[in-house]
Amino acid sequence: MTQHPSSPPDSEKELRRRMVEAAQKLTTQGLNGTTSGNIGVRLAQSFLVTPSGVASDELLPEAIVEMDFSGATLGPGKPSSEWHFHRDILAARAEIGAIVHTHSPYASALACLRRDIPAFHYMIAVAGGDSIRCAPYAIFGSQELSDLALLALENRKACLLANHGVIALGLDLADAMALACEVESLCQQYWCASQLGEPQLLSGPQMQAVLERFKTYGRRGRD
Ligand code: 13P
Ligand code: ZN
Repeated sequence: MTQHPSSPPDSEKELRRRMVEAAQKLTTQGLNGTTSGNIGVRLAQSFLVTPSGVASDELLPEAIVEMDFSGATLGPGKPSSEWHFHRDILAARAEIGAIVHTHSPYASALACLRRDIPAFHYMIAVAGGDSIRCAPYAIFGSQELSDLALLALENRKACLLANHGVIALGLDLADAMALACEVESLCQQYWCASQLGEPQLLSGPQMQAVLERFKTYGRRGRD
């Protein structure tokens, strides 16, 4: 472990505060249990990750761990066991500023079926394509899990992890939180629809049209 050169700048302090707030929100909204899941946020030359095994209601901003891209910690604390995928995703995806990992109930239940979520609803496109892939199983906290997740996230901003949970990516923390929430909601809808039959899927061209429309949707520009 190398020593942190000085106390964190205000902007980093604010990020740490927002990470605590986000971790607690995931618990109160039922997307995570007390210690399940974790959050990573990019800094200029390093990243912040929530500590391992700390209940969100006991999490303090100063307990969040700073790491560099070699996997070394830059201060006190034990990083999330999933620091490999936080590091690897931030290293591979320059556009991504934050990662939210959850064990949200419907998404995790579907992940136990080890199936991709198909284009049963147009909002599947928020994850970047015409499906949300499910990465094959590997034990939590492993480099293997990170490698498999990175593949499942190709051209996507979210994936399921077999027999485990969800990874959602965002330009920033708010973006990643919104996607983690949306993935859970989509999985709940898919689950509900599947109770009554096989959901009708949107076609490739229909999903392409949605992906096109998303480029200008909402704050991204005029429809
Ligand atoms: P950490 O508490 O080490 O972040 O682990 C929680 C988890 O979700 C592992 O996949
Ligand atoms: Zn997990």
